[in-house]
Formats: sequence, structure tokens, C-alpha cells
Amino acid sequence: MFLETKNLTKQFGGLVAVDDVDFSIVKGKIYAIIGPNGAGKSTFFNLISGLYASTSGKVIFKGNDITKLPPNKIAKLGMARTFQTTHLFEQATVLDNVIVGYRLRTKSNLMDAVFRTRRFKIEEQLCRDKAMEVLGFVGLTGVTDKLAANITQEEKKRVAFALALATDPEIVFLDEPAAGINPDETDGLAELMEKMVRRGITVCLIEHKMQMIMKLADKIMVLNYGKKIAEGTPKEIMNDQKVIEAYLGGSANA
Ligand code: ADP
Ligand code: MG
Repeated sequence: MFLETKNLTKQFGGLVAVDDVDFSIVKGKIYAIIGPNGAGKSTFFNLISGLYASTSGKVIFKGNDITKLPPNKIAKLGMARTFQTTHLFEQATVLDNVIVGYRLRTKSNLMDAVFRTRRFKIEEQLCRDKAMEVLGFVGLTGVTDKLAANITQEEKKRVAFALALATDPEIVFLDEPAAGINPDETDGLAELMEKMVRRGITVCLIEHKMQMIMKLADKIMVLNYGKKIAEGTPKEIMNDQKVIEAYLGGSANA
């Protein structure tokens, strides 16, 4: 298995935000996690990416037990993620945002940076090349020199993808990538995710936009009050009585 969680659990005081979740991911597919607000979706991502320590259970990635690894070590193994809200440096260019984000994750030694050694200069050029490459991949070649403050919401979403892709991940976890954008833009992001998969990247996203999910996902997991209540193909999920009751509000056409 490419990535697996086993009995993964996170408690915050008396609240069980993620409750005994078994989940497995096969390489090269698109997975979606859905569920009502507060169901534990983002917490689940935070556990997998090492941001939160689990209360119990395990995360296995490419055969490595990564349960107790810090986020930077997990990233090095080939995992990247985006957050529900992307914080960009608004007064810096799009290109500089991606360069800085990339460098934060690959870290040039601070003294090197101060003295601008040869290695630093080479690395700077590599970071720049990498940033241009991923910005091209996400379709932002035309806005690399704009200030982040002056780009659209949809372009900001694409910058978040670029930041995740800069580290050459094998798998990306996207937390509500299409929140707050219009249907046309949502289609554009869906296409971008398909392009990522064609490039060999496995995608797992949290999303509320059911139409998008139904078209895009190979497999869906439904969380409710931290528990996995269903898992299956979009068609199976649409027809699952538990899901309809918990999430789709009693209407199969929701
Ligand atoms: P979702 O992403 O599905 O909307 P979250 O994973 O953000 O849900 O939250 C699940 C539950 O865990 C919520 O009740 C939330 O308030 C709680 N929670 C999330 N993060 C924390 C935290 N750092 N401390 C305390 N409670 C948290
Ligand atoms: Mg969330």
C-alpha cells in the first residue's frame, strides 16, 4: 500500500476529532474526503502530514512508519499538502512567494544566505528555476511578476498548488482547494488535479463541491464526527443510506 492509516485517532480533551480511522491509498489515483463541518477532515490531514501528534494509531507511507515523524521529514519522503487558507506574502511577487516557500522547505543554511556563498547562488538559481517550472505547470506563467495582493482568488489557489508541487511530491493532500471560487474556476482546478495525476502524483483532497468530487474522485471516504462512515466509488457514496442521512441532508440529489 502506498499510504495507509491504521486506527488513526486524535483527541482534543474530551473531543475525539478523528476516531479510529483506517484508510488506504493506492498510487496514481484521486481520493476525496467529504463530511460535514467539524467532521475531522482537516485534523486527519494534520495527522498524516505530521502537524499533529496522533493520540493512537499509525500512519504508514511507502512502508515507513511516519506516525511520529515531524512534518519536514515527512515532506522529504515525498508528501506535500495545502491548507484551507493560503497565506501569501501579499507585497511580494508570485514568483518570490513560491521561491520563499520552496526555500523554507529545502532550507539553505542561514550563514550561507548571509555571506552569499557560491553554493547559495547556485541554490538560488535552482529555486528560481523550480519556482518558474511549477508556476508554469499550474498555469501561472503570466502572473509571476505580479504582487500576490493583485492576483485573483483562483490564481491564489493555483499558487497554493505550486507551493505544494515545488518539493516534487509523490502525493499531495489538498484541503478544500476549490473553496470560494466559481464553477468555471472549479473546473479549471479539477483539470489541474487530473494533470497532476497524469504526471504520476497521487491526489487526496477534502472538498465540499459534490459535483466536482463525483466527476473527479476514484474513491471517496466520508467522515462524520471523526468516524469513517462510508468509503467507495462516487456512485456507491451517492447511494449510501448512511451518507445520505448524515451528509447529503436526506436527499439523494443533493
Ligand atoms: P473539518 O475539517 O472536517 O471541518 P476539523 O478537523 O477542522 O474539521 O475539526 C474537527 C474537530 O476538531 C472540530 O470539532 C474542531 O473544533 C476540533 N479541533 C480541530 N483542531 C483543533 C485543535 N487544534 N484544538 C482543539 N480542537 C480542535
Ligand atoms: Mg477543515
